[in-house]
Amino acid sequence: MTKYVYSFGRGKAEGSSVMRNLLGGKGCELAEMTNLGIPVPPGFTVTTQAWAAYNRTGRQFPDGLWDQVASALEKLEQDAGLVLGDPRRPLLVSVRSGARVSMPGMMETVLNLGLNDATVEGLAAWTGNERFAWDCYRRFIAMFGDVVLGIKREAFDEHLEALKKHLGVKSDPEVPAAELARLTQTFKDIVGSRTGSEFPQDPREQLRLAVRAVFDSWFAKKATEYRRIHNIPAEWGTAVTVMSMVFGNLGETSGTGVGFTRDPRTGEPIFYAEFLANAQGEDVVAGIRTPEHIDDLKRRMPEIYDELLTIAGRLERHYKDMQDIEFTIQEGKLYLLQTRSGKRSAAAAVRVAVDLVHEAVIDQHTALLRVRPQDLNQVLHPGFDAQDKAEAIRAGRLLARGLPAAPGAAVGEVVFDADRAVEWAKAGRRVILLRAETSPEDIAGMYAAQGIVTSRGGRTSHAAVVAVGMGKPCVVGAGDVVISEERRTFEAGGRTVREGEIVSVDGTTGEVLLDSIDTVEPGLQDSFRELLSWADRYRTLGVRANADTPDDARKAREFGAEGIGLVRTEHMFFAPDRIAIVREMIMAGDRATRLAAVQKLLPFQRDDFVGIFRAMDGLPVTVRLLDPPLHEFLANPKEYREMIEERARLDALNMNPARQAALDEKLAKIDSLREANPMLGHRGCRLGITSPEIYAMQVRAIMEAACTVAEQGVKVEPEIMIPLTGTVGEMKLTYENTKTVAEAAKIEMGGAVTYTIGTMIEVPRAALIADKIAQDAEFFSFGTNDLTQMTFGYSRDDVAKFLPDYLQKGLLQHDPFSVLDQEGVGELIRIGIERGRRTRPDLKVGICGEHGGEPASVEFCHKVGMTYVSCSPFMIPIARLSAAQARIRVREASAEGAPSA
Ligand code: ADP
Ligand code: MG
Ligand code: MG
Repeated sequence: MTKYVYSFGRGKAEGSSVMRNLLGGKGCELAEMTNLGIPVPPGFTVTTQAWAAYNRTGRQFPDGLWDQVASALEKLEQDAGLVLGDPRRPLLVSVRSGARVSMPGMMETVLNLGLNDATVEGLAAWTGNERFAWDCYRRFIAMFGDVVLGIKREAFDEHLEALKKHLGVKSDPEVPAAELARLTQTFKDIVGSRTGSEFPQDPREQLRLAVRAVFDSWFAKKATEYRRIHNIPAEWGTAVTVMSMVFGNLGETSGTGVGFTRDPRTGEPIFYAEFLANAQGEDVVAGIRTPEHIDDLKRRMPEIYDELLTIAGRLERHYKDMQDIEFTIQEGKLYLLQTRSGKRSAAAAVRVAVDLVHEAVIDQHTALLRVRPQDLNQVLHPGFDAQDKAEAIRAGRLLARGLPAAPGAAVGEVVFDADRAVEWAKAGRRVILLRAETSPEDIAGMYAAQGIVTSRGGRTSHAAVVAVGMGKPCVVGAGDVVISEERRTFEAGGRTVREGEIVSVDGTTGEVLLDSIDTVEPGLQDSFRELLSWADRYRTLGVRANADTPDDARKAREFGAEGIGLVRTEHMFFAPDRIAIVREMIMAGDRATRLAAVQKLLPFQRDDFVGIFRAMDGLPVTVRLLDPPLHEFLANPKEYREMIEERARLDALNMNPARQAALDEKLAKIDSLREANPMLGHRGCRLGITSPEIYAMQVRAIMEAACTVAEQGVKVEPEIMIPLTGTVGEMKLTYENTKTVAEAAKIEMGGAVTYTIGTMIEVPRAALIADKIAQDAEFFSFGTNDLTQMTFGYSRDDVAKFLPDYLQKGLLQHDPFSVLDQEGVGELIRIGIERGRRTRPDLKVGICGEHGGEPASVEFCHKVGMTYVSCSPFMIPIARLSAAQARIRVREASAEGAPSA
């Protein structure tokens, strides 16, 4: 008989942390905490395997499940000393969901189960607290009604709100017992009229229905959305934990709260927590009430506060990671109800990992593996410009202040519901989602938004936690914001703001401002630097930057680039002071005119290279010779259209024949350069071969610049790179031409600069004959944008027409232009490296496509033995960390795979 149920209680549990997949995160950690001797109410967990069986058989409990539940319940009753349904001393339980990965608030939980018209009286008599008993019963009916019977929560809540208004009280605890009893009757009536039957009175029947509903909540819309966003497989399912209730709503010595062992926004080692006296847990986590600061607990119950901190520290050391805990205090006694590894911002992830190493809790390897490389983007996210913000505040544009729940700066158009957020974001608009409270139902809208603002709820509410995990700037509990959903406006700071107006959200300070505020690049924090210095120690793969200007080069260096893997010389051609000369060069009818134009470009190019070489003193710089087809420089589509129009106008007016002739000549030239498939056309080394004077000028500019800075004491290492070679002949000819010019320039300059000449491998044929290409080429750099384009035969500029369909139908797992296709393009890379190194064993090999900063692609580059990856300056930290992770993983895998002696 399969074991479907695992008990915990009185210091002993059948389960433990290692049974996460079977018991879910919540169930396994409750078991683990029980075994650690931490105060946890007794209970039992129904496994995900039971869930799977239930789903396989068309939502039927598998054989034996209910018998096992019955005996676990009996044990729970003994541990608790109470009996479910006992009219004098009733046991009440919670029924909680829990998947193997935490999905805060995405599935359901029912509290206070076991109450009915008889047990509520018993509970009141036994505790001597009538108010408490009715508070539990009204909560139970509302939660059960919502989760099990499918009646919207608001249907109940509106009666509570109306009652509070009627009584003239602000908070729930001020509502007296008799009123709560009447409210409970109203709730039962709602259930009766909505479902056509009485509220179920039999506790065992309640339990059976609740377990079923929690199982089913795996397929709720919000849970499904969350899984989609976080790539969680649908077949994992949820476990169900049933446990004895402890009551935070028993009066002023009771309460409930949520805490993080460190600040999830910054990683700062402080206890980051919120607390509500005389309340139950869902009030905090569902953002129903805005809780108090934890200092409130410290004041009220200092010993409990100390005990809580001790347990928090103990849990963190036990799990070796920052924890997110739920606790409840019942009449001065503390209970833990949940612990899990806390969701955190990227900045916090870095800081926590580094601090834990300093505290000797984890080693550097573990710390490096703890941070997701792509999340580093967030650490590099801009914040608001302090001065611009100060001015905005002075100008009266501060709309509201709330609690800073997730750091970062966001600017966008205000929307008031998740659907619109999704719709507008799809249309390419940047939106800020503004809601009364943070509800997990809004998950898709939160994901689509740049930032999130709520007028109610605390920083530890589920939605705030989810926003931190997503890296979305978020402000909660901005109480001054009054939303009118029908009119699609909100009022704050004495202004009315309509949907679609721009607001700025500072998730780091909790401010919401009208209009957009300028953003600034962040500085690197100390822990970020330290983590990356460890990454550098472990990685063997080099990291370079793609940079076209001295500014980019400096930025790249600051981020830790060990050289430049790609300078795109054509970017220099587009500068306003040069484009005219470039056009002159292209338009030239004869060689002499062309040479004259080319000569005019030389000093510009030389200066560019001087600046870059200086910035990269001591590090190698790869310069690619001209690559794009020439027509790109002649006229953009708008200019072309204007020329045609001007020509037609002059013709119609019969004016300015000289201008007409000039336009004719220009248009004819443009037409003659037009190609059907420019990406497969007259570009790269093909240009260098048909117009050798252009490459000659560029090579000369590189060498003159190198010799000039070398003389000034700069250590320079130019690598001249020929683009788009596909045949041995192309390689040989361009190599020889380059060598001739470079040597001549060197002699003229009298410099002693060493340089190399290599090639891009981006035509599939080049990868296949790499052994022969390497006879001349002294280094390789895989241009994976073109290589992907030509391997798939997908035009990069047109792929958007069909790629979404392909992704949706699962024909492709990823966009191959962002995530390297290891199977196909990767195979060509493997072949290219292997054959190239057959000819030159020490061949330097890099990659300079967009893939050089994508973690999975970087890992691949490490595995195939590349020398370095090159990516845009901002991606460098990501590449450094990815490279370290790749090495650590490869080593761990080979250690595991190694035969034991
Ligand atoms: P979620 O996964 O949505 O956080 P939980 O199962 O953790 O759902 O429960 C929601 C809230 O109810 C939490 O604050 C939790 O601490 C509280 N809670 C759950 N079980 C109990 C219990 N047995 N006694 C008191 N509070 C409980
Ligand atoms: Mg919880
Ligand atoms: Mg290319």
